[in-house]
Amino acid sequence: MSSIEAKLQQVRTRIAIACEHARRPVQSVTLLAVTKTFGPQSVRDAHAAGQRAFGENYVQEAVEKIEALADLRECIEWHLIGPLQSNKTRVVAAHFDWVHSIDRFKLAERLSAQRPAGLAPLQVCLQVNISGEASKSGVASADVLSLAQQVAALPRVRLRGLMAIPEPAGDFEAQRAPHRALARLLYDLNAAGLTLDTLSMGMSADLEAAIAEGATIVRVGSAIFGTR
Ligand SMILES: *Cc1c(COP(=O)(O)O)cnc(C)c1O
Repeated sequence: MSSIEAKLQQVRTRIAIACEHARRPVQSVTLLAVTKTFGPQSVRDAHAAGQRAFGENYVQEAVEKIEALADLRECIEWHLIGPLQSNKTRVVAAHFDWVHSIDRFKLAERLSAQRPAGLAPLQVCLQVNISGEASKSGVASADVLSLAQQVAALPRVRLRGLMAIPEPAGDFEAQRAPHRALARLLYDLNAAGLTLDTLSMGMSADLEAAIAEGATIVRVGSAIFGTR
């Protein structure tokens, strides 16, 4: 067994145990393998071990990897989880299946306009600045509803839900709080008439807390591929 395969298995076990504790079906959580800084061979190894959804942070690095792995394109889902600048939206619209980091309308508007006609609508999440830190990207909680309503009306992107990168916290209860806040926001959006099904939250250090609060996508890098 390759070390990537062994670590993937460990992460799958962590997800399964967390789902059991939360009385959730294990299929309700998708594992997104975060491959930033790791080369195409790491993606191939994970793919050979059954992994299908991959997350990348940097557009240029990601596009090179996606092109190097063109033979796997049909059976891999590519997710952009890092910050996006408006001058990169065209290449992102052409190469990715998902974007988790929408924090302003202009990005979604450009992605919708630039999504190639032959592809399915781009699946998107709004990134929320859930810990309220001045320096971090993400839309403020108070502005999520109006942004969500605008994005949901675009024809070539499909708004699926919310994403957050909370401040690191030590113990389990402290880790749960921001994830609970994001889940509450999603609940409020649906109560306001949207139909969103995705909570992208939880990483190597806090995936159990995120699953306890309803995560549907956990984004895991170092626990699978090692330290960066
Ligand atoms: C790097 C990264 C991850 C994965 O973090 P790990 O701690 O390595 O699991 C998840 N989400 C985002 C947005 C990231 O940039």
